[in-house]
Amino acid sequence: MKKEPVISIQHLNHYYGKGALRRQILFDINFEIYPGEIVLMTGPSGSGKTTLLSLIGGLRSVQEGSLKFLGEELYRASQTKLVNLRRKIGYIFQAHNLLEFLTARQNVQMAVELNKYISQQEAIARSERILRAVGLGSRINYYPDSLSGGQKQRIAIARALVNNPALVLADEPTAALDRQSGRDVVELMQRLAREQGTSILLVTHDNRILDIADRIVEMEDGVLISQSESAFVSSESGARTKS
Ligand code: ADP
Ligand code: MG
Repeated sequence: MKKEPVISIQHLNHYYGKGALRRQILFDINFEIYPGEIVLMTGPSGSGKTTLLSLIGGLRSVQEGSLKFLGEELYRASQTKLVNLRRKIGYIFQAHNLLEFLTARQNVQMAVELNKYISQQEAIARSERILRAVGLGSRINYYPDSLSGGQKQRIAIARALVNNPALVLADEPTAALDRQSGRDVVELMQRLAREQGTSILLVTHDNRILDIADRIVEMEDGVLISQSESAFVSSESGARTKS
């Protein structure tokens, strides 16, 4: 029996603009992501990848079709529901989006403190633990300004993963990095996701990182094409048993 998908999308369409300017961007998307699965999405600029990511992340309202996150329907979902859902998702963007006036630890800690049941002490401990896990143990109290692009992106990864989300959405996370830093950053995401059982949906143009994927899909003019599927993804034992 298949595991319950983290994301389940059926007949999803999306449009921008109104009246005569209304333009369809996504066409009949059908797509699932299973627990622990790492899915890479490629495709030309303007094909609709970011739009799909923002819909999955609950950052934009679903207009047509069904989009379920952990079994919960997002179509016509309330703002409260969307806010709760966003807490279970980690976001990593092309630019790291760190706050320059906060240290590495404070940037991560902010994400932990969205959960009001966690004490400040615990939030600090968790933030420092995840920063050590991403190899920034010696940079915990540094400001982003004094860190390299790769280090900043690692803080962003720490921030995205610190709450142990069910899903991480990454939109071209290596675009601003050199080859080696880009590689390091995705391998780190892969390792942490495997350890935590987190699913990842990662948009990339970077052919050199495609091998970290369990599955690759391609967006073309708003249509999603499945490129490859690994048999183990739907197996009972799940994606994490892959070596
Ligand atoms: P990608 O991430 O693959 O580059 P996007 O999802 O960003 O693609 O964009 C898909 C199409 O939708 C593009 O033609 C883009 O110009 C258009 N678009 C994106 N965002 C908006 C918006 N907020 N309003 C109107 N059109 C948009
Ligand atoms: Mg984009």
